[in-house]
Amino acid sequence: MGDPTIPILDLRGVGKEYRLGDQRIEALRGANLTAGKGEFICLIGASGCGKSTLLRIVAGFETASAGEVLMWGKPIDGPSPSRGMVFQDYGLFPWLSVRRNIGFGPASRGRPGAEVRETVDRFVELVGLNRFADAYPHQLSGGMKQRVAIARVLANDAEIVLMDEPFGALDAMTRERLQDELLDLWSRTGLTVLFVTHSIEEAIFLSDRVVVMSPGPGRIESELRVGLARPRDVAAPDFNTIRRDLGLRLHSHHGRKAA
Ligand code: ADP
Ligand code: MG
Repeated sequence: MGDPTIPILDLRGVGKEYRLGDQRIEALRGANLTAGKGEFICLIGASGCGKSTLLRIVAGFETASAGEVLMWGKPIDGPSPSRGMVFQDYGLFPWLSVRRNIGFGPASRGRPGAEVRETVDRFVELVGLNRFADAYPHQLSGGMKQRVAIARVLANDAEIVLMDEPFGALDAMTRERLQDELLDLWSRTGLTVLFVTHSIEEAIFLSDRVVVMSPGPGRIESELRVGLARPRDVAAPDFNTIRRDLGLRLHSHHGRKAA
């Protein structure tokens, strides 16, 4: 599994068509994307360009209508704990405590109780929720709920974390804090992250590489490597240069000219 010449994730010519009555919707066409282990990749683009579809295919919730989707060189043929999804609306079990939400995956895979408890303790600690371990989702702030969602995926031994606008429902302050925390987690764990966002700034702040998508049909338009050292300064001139470049790429899809 440690072969550095095998990418952890490889999409080759991936297409997806949905049927809606007698209509056919081409949600994704000819998507090529390779992720190395430990890469942080952001997907950005107008709504309807197939970002969620791409993530769901990698998660194994949907099958591609065309092309190949490989993890460690093997076709993805369904969901797996090694690929965990984090949603904007958290997706927690409201009837379970923080502890039991995080332990749900390992417990349902039949891990022994002591091992589940140890895993839960580790991830509760890692996302800073010790004081809330026995609370229920409705007792938590949005930011805390999203920390639980992230911990739950990690406790399940995910190697690839799929994040679909995970911070979209949070206020700006909480969002910035979670961005910092996520980068901290990522740098300590070697996770590979595919992160969907509408925010150019968030994409540049977080990622090694930004993938720009466009709609009708959904496709990958271009890629941009963000070579800036971390932690990044959103007000720095080189950050702004990339911001402008990405803005141009995104707006060109709407036929709008840059100022
Ligand atoms: P994004 O996440 O970039 O907004 P989506 O991947 O959700 O885009 O959707 C891409 C396109 O596919 C859109 O036109 C959307 O309406 C359509 N679509 C997504 N899911 C389905 C579905 N289950 N059935 C039919 N059409 C769908
Ligand atoms: Mg979406």
